Amino acid sequence: MADVSTLVVDSILAAARVAAQVCRQVQGESTLSGVPEAKTGDEPVTIADYAAQAILLHTIARVAPTHSVLAEESSAHLRTQGESTRRRVHELVTQALREPLDFEGVCVLIDHAGKDATYAWAIDPIDGTRGFIRRDQYCVAVALLAHGVPILSVLACPNLAQDPASPQGPKGVLFHAIRGQGAFAAPLDGGTPRRIHVRDVTDPSAMRILASVESAHGDPVLIDRVVRDLHLGVLVRIDSQVKYGALARGDAEFYVRPRNHPDRRENVWDHAPGVLLAVEAGGKATDLDGKELDFTTGRKMLNNRGVLVSHGPWHAMLIGALERAERG
Ligand code: AMP
Ligand code: MG
Repeated sequence: MADVSTLVVDSILAAARVAAQVCRQVQGESTLSGVPEAKTGDEPVTIADYAAQAILLHTIARVAPTHSVLAEESSAHLRTQGESTRRRVHELVTQALREPLDFEGVCVLIDHAGKDATYAWAIDPIDGTRGFIRRDQYCVAVALLAHGVPILSVLACPNLAQDPASPQGPKGVLFHAIRGQGAFAAPLDGGTPRRIHVRDVTDPSAMRILASVESAHGDPVLIDRVVRDLHLGVLVRIDSQVKYGALARGDAEFYVRPRNHPDRRENVWDHAPGVLLAVEAGGKATDLDGKELDFTTGRKMLNNRGVLVSHGPWHAMLIGALERAERG
């Protein structure tokens, strides 16, 4: 598996910091400037989604111009928006990048993609947009895949407490992982990355399980059955891939995401960044059948019935409990 250069790692970490700062700025505004019309599909989108994607792709276009890109947003919807929305996105991007781009230049960044299919960037500029709009948890999520295998990932989590023991303390964590080199966390505002590891827990009642805040993004009834079957400890609901970050640093032991509709397929950018982080932190990530997750099918992950992430030792137990829960 190809190595990833220090230049690429440092550049994408810096870009994620800038993108997260813009998200923070927009989230702090009195009215969250969501783009009113929903995108085709089911997700809301805000001016910060577009700005963050342009900022990330500005860096990728510079350090890895030939790599292909699987990104959640495109400029097509933004171009149909009113003047004030377009102007605001343009302002956010040009101020953050300190470059005199015109609106068209911002759209070109949002849509940037190279043609080399060996390397692909999976990008969710704001993962958990619903959490972002609720002023709750969200993250800027990026993974670099080589032949469909995540080799670098970054999760910038502006609202996550730096110290899980002090939920009201300083917030903002920048996670990253490099395949074969470990998982790391640093304060989002700067500081040395420290190695993180899943928690070594064997007592089920001390194990914590993570799920989405949005019930429609999972299957709360199924998860509840699993919790009761295995006598697990608390169920914690968090938006976005912040769940993966929480598990990787030992705040929780399981993240279960069953498919909630036969036609639903997970997006590659909703899992590739988090999966590498969890695995490099010593955890395990598979589909609900225990098979390795397949990131080779483009934007959508076609070959799974859901995702299971754990701290490791109870992974097979969880799969068994899920099978029992599915039988009812
Ligand atoms: P979470 O905050 O963990 O619920 O995940 C947020 C992600 O869920 C978004 O980035 C969407 O891509 C994705 N999503 C949207 N609708 C659904 C759905 N019906 N089922 C599963 N995932 C969804
Ligand atoms: Mg997402």
